[in-house]
Amino acid sequence: MAKELRLEIVTPDRLVVSSDVEYVGAPGVLGEFGVLPGHVPFLSALGIGNLHYNVGGKTYYVFVSGGFAEVSGDKVTVLAEVAERAEEIDMERARRAEERARQRITKQQEALDNARATAALQRAMARMSCRTAAQSAGTSSRA
Ligand code: ATP
Repeated sequence: MAKELRLEIVTPDRLVVSSDVEYVGAPGVLGEFGVLPGHVPFLSALGIGNLHYNVGGKTYYVFVSGGFAEVSGDKVTVLAEVAERAEEIDMERARRAEERARQRITKQQEALDNARATAALQRAMARMSCRTAAQSAGTSSRA
């Protein structure tokens, strides 16, 4: 059995990660799931949250929102609607998005607008926690 997995994370416009990794943890819509080499074939829709993967004793973080993850053989393919490596996340932008979303949520508004604002808040919070986790792990290159 292989000791590593090939992880590819792509969005409609770019390749975000292509790496040999030891473990992948991802935010499935039904909850977090983990993949080690030798995992059975598997397909899951992705929610909003942080994917992480381990290489050489280090943990790397990637924000993902929507899309699918497929495990086949020793390959994990993530087709995400939106994905950013931790070091690409603009914390100030996420803070502003959080603020806007909170203001929209506190207004009395249509259920659909509220659902959109709640999803925007989830994205902003997950982006900030992704960046913070990577900084704690020492795997983010920007301060
Ligand atoms: P915003 O309101 O700041 O645009 P959003 O959650 O609505 O945030 P998305 O629709 O998830 O944004 O993403 C739109 C594009 O902007 C994507 O390409 C995404 O990678 C990028 N993006 C959004 N927020 C950030 C951020 N804080 N840092 C880096 N890239 C971001």
